[in-house]
Amino acid sequence: MYPLTDPANLPHDVWTLIAGRTAAQSVRDLCSLRMSCTAARNAGEEDFVYRCPSIPIWDQRWWSMSPMHQAGRNFLARCRQSGHLEVLFRSAVSDLFLGRCHFAGMETMHIVAAQGHSPAQYTVSMMLMLRDDFESKNKGLQTFRGLEAAGAPTICKLAFRGVIQGTWTHLRRMPMLNADNLVCSSHACPSRGNMGAIYRHKRCGRGWDVNDGDGGAAHIPCVHCWADYELILFIHLFD
Ligand SMILES: [Zn+2]
Repeated sequence: MYPLTDPANLPHDVWTLIAGRTAAQSVRDLCSLRMSCTAARNAGEEDFVYRCPSIPIWDQRWWSMSPMHQAGRNFLARCRQSGHLEVLFRSAVSDLFLGRCHFAGMETMHIVAAQGHSPAQYTVSMMLMLRDDFESKNKGLQTFRGLEAAGAPTICKLAFRGVIQGTWTHLRRMPMLNADNLVCSSHACPSRGNMGAIYRHKRCGRGWDVNDGDGGAAHIPCVHCWADYELILFIHLFD
């Protein structure tokens, strides 16, 4: 019979993997593991481990400014620094729609989106379509169509709404949507400019609904008007 290996002799990489798996299950368990021995504590300091925790990003208590939550904020800051995608996404939403760091927020959102994070890709697509120039609008539309093809928009909207709804109403800075920044620019299009009326008719004060993707403007043949309808849904995620 072989003698059991002393856990302290496990290679650092193995400890790092164990710590990462533990972090993905529970932050509390990660803290306990890190206190168990020096090898676990050292592994727990790796960037990889700080990218793993499952954090309820919509839960405002995690971002509480109370002095009691300083340790939690330090932990989140370290996750952000290590490239934790969910934390970066939340931070980008905060910079874009709550703070005054629009440029930094958009930059972070692009970085997170480039790593395949669907809610960030969704946010980027909406922000691009809200711009005035044709090239940005087109780029945003292509990104959104990619998400649509993958069946991702609903989960993206739920993630975005979860974050924005967890913030103080008076701090939210809703993006502007008006007749001048419509995606559909064809004056020959019969549905152009009617998306607001369709939204009011469909939802009639009920706000955005998870099932909006099934109805709404799905029957409209103009893909640009459909994008305008999606922008209206995006704005109503802030309600
Ligand atoms: Zn149109």
